[in-house]
Amino acid sequence: MSEPLSASRARALLEAHGVRPRKRWGQNFLIDRNVLEKIVQTAGLLPEDRALEIGPGLGALTALLAERCAHVTAVEIDRLLEPVLRQTLADCRNVSLIFADFLELSLPTLLSEAFGDSPGVVVANIPYYITTPILERLFENKARIRQIVLLVQQEFAERVAATPGSKEYSALTVFAQYHARAEITGRVSRSVFLPPPEVSSAILRLSPVLPGTLALRDEARFFQIVRAAFGQRRKTLLNALAGGQIGLDRAEAEALLRRAGISPERRGETLSPEEFARLSEA
Ligand code: SAM
Repeated sequence: MSEPLSASRARALLEAHGVRPRKRWGQNFLIDRNVLEKIVQTAGLLPEDRALEIGPGLGALTALLAERCAHVTAVEIDRLLEPVLRQTLADCRNVSLIFADFLELSLPTLLSEAFGDSPGVVVANIPYYITTPILERLFENKARIRQIVLLVQQEFAERVAATPGSKEYSALTVFAQYHARAEITGRVSRSVFLPPPEVSSAILRLSPVLPGTLALRDEARFFQIVRAAFGQRRKTLLNALAGGQIGLDRAEAEALLRRAGISPERRGETLSPEEFARLSEA
């Protein structure tokens, strides 16, 4: 980046272009070079890598990515930021900007355009209000993605990277860890954003696993069991599986748990993703 990023530069840019950060699109812009560096380092970019960024905002992360890899495609919903981005990225010849709602785009088409034939890297400081749908779409296309690095709400990152038995461990954890290895690589304070968001953030690295470390014959069944177990967190697995959505009676549920080598007295929140897989396969 030619000029170091600072709160005053970000403010000056916004003022010069007559735009205000919009809350509805989660516009909290990063104004700290160290945090931007840390996000990019977490991605472990190679010079030949191609990157996709969701929500470039003022272009701070985009410019750093453009310095470190072969090409960046950035998708921004807010057309009012177009003149700002054209200015801040004027020197970056390897950036393609797309002005659209990321959730409305066909992701397979976008990934083909952004990455070509080799898997690429997704790096983004994403708007918190659409974290889950973004993750779902990325995982649906994980075969084309080598690494995902997201700056997300800290609480969300902790749920994704949680270990069995902890209070953060949830259906979201099992869903995410079914698709990827998850790791928090840093915590980020509110003060490095303009304007500061209401909550703290964390850098989350997701390394997709193919076809999933848990080889499953029936993915839908796996998630049905996970939802049943966490829908009734306080119940034993036997009670969670008997009746309700799964449609087993008590004797069937008990036999199933024994077959999977899992005690019927355990609660779902103590099962690792591998144990959920064993149960679903049984
Ligand atoms: N990357 C910039 C940074 O780190 O300073 C901006 C991050 S800001 C938290 C989120 C950005 O995502 C905003 O620029 C916002 O306009 C954009 N955005 C929000 N919803 C979006 C969507 N559905 N599709 C694409 N961009 C979106």
